[in-house]
Amino acid sequence: AYFFMLLFIIGRFISIIGKFRPWPNSLPRQVLFLDIATKLRFDPDAINTASSDFGKLVQEIPSAVFHPSSVADIIRVINVSYNSSVPFGIAARGHGHSIRGQAMAPNGVVIEMSSLSDYTSNGTKIKVSWSPSLGYYADVGGEQLWIDVLRTTLDYGLAPVSWTDYLYLTVGGTLSNAGISGQTFRHGPQISNVHELDVITGKGEFITCSKHMNSELYYAVLGGLGQFGIITRARIVLDKAPTRVKWLRIMYDDFSSFTRDQEYLISINDNGLDYVEGSLILQQSSPNNWRSSFFSASHQSKISSLLTERGILYCMEVVKYYDDNTAATVDQELELLLEGLHYIPGFLFKKDDSFVGFLNRVRSGELELQSKGLWDVPHPWLNLFVPKSRIMDFNAGVFVDILLKQNKATGPILVYPTSKKMWDERMSAVVPDEDTFYCVGLLHSGTLDDWKNLDDQNNELLEFCDKNGIEIKQYLPHYKTRQDWMNHFGSKWSTFQERKARFDPKVILSPGQKIFNFV
Ligand code: FAD
Repeated sequence: AYFFMLLFIIGRFISIIGKFRPWPNSLPRQVLFLDIATKLRFDPDAINTASSDFGKLVQEIPSAVFHPSSVADIIRVINVSYNSSVPFGIAARGHGHSIRGQAMAPNGVVIEMSSLSDYTSNGTKIKVSWSPSLGYYADVGGEQLWIDVLRTTLDYGLAPVSWTDYLYLTVGGTLSNAGISGQTFRHGPQISNVHELDVITGKGEFITCSKHMNSELYYAVLGGLGQFGIITRARIVLDKAPTRVKWLRIMYDDFSSFTRDQEYLISINDNGLDYVEGSLILQQSSPNNWRSSFFSASHQSKISSLLTERGILYCMEVVKYYDDNTAATVDQELELLLEGLHYIPGFLFKKDDSFVGFLNRVRSGELELQSKGLWDVPHPWLNLFVPKSRIMDFNAGVFVDILLKQNKATGPILVYPTSKKMWDERMSAVVPDEDTFYCVGLLHSGTLDDWKNLDDQNNELLEFCDKNGIEIKQYLPHYKTRQDWMNHFGSKWSTFQERKARFDPKVILSPGQKIFNFV
């Protein structure tokens, strides 16, 4: 019996030690003696997940993955790094839907934010309230997915006003970028719809901030690419939710009519549309794609025949929300809004859907691709903001001369205008210096063998813009040199640097963005 007990004790000892071995050089050993040590994982499953993202283009291996069960745990792990003689990098990982390792921490610690929600039942981390000064709002954990924010707020007949096209992204992840979609022209990006934030800075300080309280941190963090702090709570603007939508797709063969109509529609303030986007349909692509299967089989073949003739089509996508009170008048209002547009006669397609069905439109395409093993593939995406004054040149040089002629595009290509007045200059997010600019998204899917060709094409079009003086800004930016980052931020670079020195002086946070840490 003693022998077996001895074996048991030795076994337990080995298993406990095994959890911490081999101890990575980059982490101070004192972590072993803190209570958070049990929340660090070193196993291949945890490390592999944290070394990868939606883009599947880069791999950066962290020393450990941290699974916090509270905000206090995150403060503790940042404090360990901050107080260490050799600080290690720490990245919050929301849903890992970045493209180029932005949520990775080479030789550092990745904080798996989703584990915060494991400790609360669904919805308790999303609290809906009302105040006379703010109206309705939701306090939401930074780790929460937007789909869960939608579901919870709808229980109160409310919803956020500004969205992304896809809802399985975290609040902290999209607020670190901007959060854009077809509602941005009307309400601004998601960062323009946040009253207040709780943030843990790179010094391990827990700070509540807003436009009126610790405002420098508030403006820094919104669009701040994770550089200044980890968002643990955001107070999000809510409004009364509609129940249904009228959803239209309208075809153009002439880019100038397409953009003129889009710009006209986003300029209507009172009783205008609730969502305006657009996309390119190239000869090699299908009118339906994973972003939503909108067209019926007969409409698809009608569009495909036209496409064979024209080679390229531009598809405007618009939505008007409605509910029981406006159901009787919505069609008439839509007709008035669309009067005088210059689309191809007979090529306006309508759908009536629930509000949730529309907002969650990408999910079914995702599940279908997942079932075919086509979702977890390389995604060499490129997202750009293009000034309105150069969008015609961009069409000729990029859409027609590069994408159409090279016949290499392999996914949705989005193009829609939005309005700069809805963005707050004091925030870290960067947009072109024009009142109206276009959001362009090249959402390629590749294979392990061919994604580099698509990436070369991305570089070719960036070079085209550079040579022709088209002052684009990258959205979800990715650069390789300090000079490129300085050019990206332009006049905001010095503020960005000063804020970094103030809130993360030891350059700990989100090293995968490679703005201050080049590995
Ligand atoms: P992650 O990739 O996990 O993190 C992104 C960055 O934010 C990292 O630097 C990370 O360290 C940091 N971060 C994460 N959480 C926090 C936090 N709590 N506090 C501080 N920093 C944090 N974007 C749009 O704007 N509009 C769209 O319509 C849109 N559609 C998309 C569709 C798909 C299918 C995909 C894959 C992406 C889409 N995106 C869109 C891009 C998306 O908004 C960004 O990639 C976003 O960063 C993803 O959120 P995430 O939770 O996965 O963040």
